[in-house]
Amino acid sequence: MQSKISLATITTDEKIKYYLLTENEALHEITKTAKDVNEILNLPSTTLVRLILNNFHWDQDMLTGKFSFILMKIRKFYFVLEKFFTDPEKLFKELNVANPYLSPSLQSNPLSPGHAPERDPMLAVVEQMATDNTNKICRTCYSENPSDEFYALRCRHQHCLTCWHSYLEVNIGQHGCLRPIYCLSRCLEVIDDEKILELLSNDQNLCDRYRNNLVKAFVEANRLTQWCPGNGCATIVKLNTYSANRAHVIECDNCKTTFCFQCSKPWHEPIQCSLLAKWEQKNRDESMTGTWVIA
Ligand SMILES: [Zn+2]
Ligand SMILES: [Zn+2]
Ligand SMILES: [Zn+2]
Ligand SMILES: [Zn+2]
Repeated sequence: MQSKISLATITTDEKIKYYLLTENEALHEITKTAKDVNEILNLPSTTLVRLILNNFHWDQDMLTGKFSFILMKIRKFYFVLEKFFTDPEKLFKELNVANPYLSPSLQSNPLSPGHAPERDPMLAVVEQMATDNTNKICRTCYSENPSDEFYALRCRHQHCLTCWHSYLEVNIGQHGCLRPIYCLSRCLEVIDDEKILELLSNDQNLCDRYRNNLVKAFVEANRLTQWCPGNGCATIVKLNTYSANRAHVIECDNCKTTFCFQCSKPWHEPIQCSLLAKWEQKNRDESMTGTWVIA
């Protein structure tokens, strides 16, 4: 991560430190920040922390300081979830509601493994039909695979790696990285981003697409980051600290573009971003009028 100093904003000579990041460095930062924040939040999945951080513009202090009451609510919610996974029967009894997972009508999902209804439905799928010591039959696709080609989250719902791959592909295609991906058995356990990338490691295209989704969401949500607007340049600029005036001059060493952090236009001192936008709009309007006159 390369660090640089911006020497001015449009109206002041305020100096600010900034960094030039590659996509891999941004990904590293996403993982590290989500893990650090989860030391405080203690949620069952760092993907949930990442999604919460997106909503808080990656402002850790705001998330863990001002909004600590929200954290308490989140923790309470996950405490209930935790109970749900460890002893669902007890939880439903405490809440005085019937366990909906005992209803046979919920078993029609073609992606969910079938199970013997007389047994505990939450764990029935764990009992894989072992054909010998090393192979298992996947309850989703019924193919026989070596046991090390299965994966289960904490809920212990096991599925073969091929089923996981197809399931992740569909989810990433529909929602990118903006929603948590739950267990293939449609329980409430969430799969971590790191595990998603690991399960997709034999599909370079999909793996790259998911990484790219993660970085894009991070850059767009984060108040301190911006893409370099240089042609075909994938450099990410990150300010060291937040300042109200974001019209800092930024130089990208990779494509040699000099631009304004706030509006991403070529550096436009001494005109302010809003004036530049108005001037550009006026030019567009006038060229439209010219086209009408010619017509
Ligand atoms: Zn399968
Ligand atoms: Zn599950
Ligand atoms: Zn650049
Ligand atoms: Zn600007």
